[in-house]
Amino acid sequence: MHSIESLRKWKSETNKRLIFPNAFMEEIVSVSPLDESVLGKIPVFTEKEIVGAVENARAAFAGWSAKPVEERVSLLRELKPLVRARAKEIARVVHREMGKPEWSALSEVESVIESIDFHCDNDSKYLEPVVLSRAGEKENLQVFEPLGVIAVITPWNFPFAIPFDGILPALISGSTVVLKPSEQTMLVGMEVKKIFRELEKKGLPEHVFNFVAGGKEQGRFLVKQDIDMVSFVGSRRAGVEIMRDSAEKLHRLVLELGGKDPAIVCSDADLGKTAKGIVHGAMRNCGQVCCSIERAYVVEDVYDEFVKLAEKETRAVKFGSEKDSYIGPLVGEFQRRVVREHLGDAVEKGAEVLVGGNAPKRKGFWFPPTLVVNVNHKMKLMTEETFGPVLPVMKVSSVDEAVSLSNDSIYGLTASVWTEDREKGKQVARRLVAGTVTVNRRGGVKEGCPWGGAKQSGIGRQMGPDSVRNYTEVKHLWVE
Ligand code: NAD
Repeated sequence: MHSIESLRKWKSETNKRLIFPNAFMEEIVSVSPLDESVLGKIPVFTEKEIVGAVENARAAFAGWSAKPVEERVSLLRELKPLVRARAKEIARVVHREMGKPEWSALSEVESVIESIDFHCDNDSKYLEPVVLSRAGEKENLQVFEPLGVIAVITPWNFPFAIPFDGILPALISGSTVVLKPSEQTMLVGMEVKKIFRELEKKGLPEHVFNFVAGGKEQGRFLVKQDIDMVSFVGSRRAGVEIMRDSAEKLHRLVLELGGKDPAIVCSDADLGKTAKGIVHGAMRNCGQVCCSIERAYVVEDVYDEFVKLAEKETRAVKFGSEKDSYIGPLVGEFQRRVVREHLGDAVEKGAEVLVGGNAPKRKGFWFPPTLVVNVNHKMKLMTEETFGPVLPVMKVSSVDEAVSLSNDSIYGLTASVWTEDREKGKQVARRLVAGTVTVNRRGGVKEGCPWGGAKQSGIGRQMGPDSVRNYTEVKHLWVE
């Protein structure tokens, strides 16, 4: 359990340390969250190199966009054997640089193969012209023209998979890409680059895919260049900056941002399954998922039983560096600092930590699965994105109160409702303001279905029919 004194001491010690090692830099130092060992050093792109990458993407656009979509798709299908052949090697880099267990890293890499299948099988049909009206030879069509140069800027939490969510539909649409992956996982970003260099040997024209190494400053500089769109996944803070920086040239934007996703437990929920589902939804990837369950509201008649079961489930989450661990460390000290700050604030305001709460004394950025009760909306833990393995549980008097507290947030990425009455589940789901609402499961991405945030969790949708169309200019074609 935290004492206020130990939290104060921790705060003053951490403030002395360098929290954001890669904020302003000439080279990126890749540090493993598993043991703080240095994995490599990557030179950051100069402004001239970033301008060059955008110019190259612009020059490649004419040829690439002129190719029939079938040709683009069939080239991109060639990514599958390339990813498959190196899946284990790439997963090892993901594991060491981001910290997730190797099995989890491998499943992330393999999800890219499914993503390639989905986009290659479906995107061209979403690009077909839509007949709006036709009378004899006269017709009005809606057609989708390739947009141009897309800056794809991505985070570190699924460092191999997320870049493909932007790159694949962008390239299928006929646009060209400049990828700037996260500075926290630049070695994984370079694996994405390697895969596209290999695809060039199989026929992808040079400069259709371009790469920039760097951090926030390089990302900002890229956004201010002569691009047509930013496809961004990351924090709300960066989303705001990107929107501001894009205003001058009115870049198109898709912003997939953070969340503070609620789970509502109704009195008729299957409590065993619900506690398991919610705890795992909170702890997955060490809580570093945009759609992690970040707060649970439990109606009072099942609250005590739920907390008992959630405590058991939280204690059972295997945390460590063993091969079968469910979660590894947090990605960096900066992330552990947020978790500690939110927990400290909650404890100061009366919260009780039932499980976890203290980082083990070992090298690396470890933080254990943590369960907290006696929480309220005056605490950062209930209102700001924590992005760590922490589940706060709040007792509520009714589902109505749970809905109103769930919607009391600037965010709206996903939300979940847990009940044995599916019709009631659907009705409650309709009242929640979120991009995806799930009944009896944690939120997540489903291929073919739209993915994106309500309110300040983002703008635009990826994944569904809108995904590839994001990277196009909609044109009305009017023939008389
Ligand atoms: P971040 O916003 O700090 O960084 C993301 C990327 O943006 C990095 O490549 C970074 O260098 C770059 N960047 C930062 N500021 C920039 C700016 N002003 N201009 C241009 N580029 C800039 O986010 P992070 O810490 O890497 O990732 C965690 C966040 O991402 C969480 O908030 C999480 O919820 C969110 N996320 C959202 C989704 C989603 O689908 N909605 C998916 C994964 C992660």
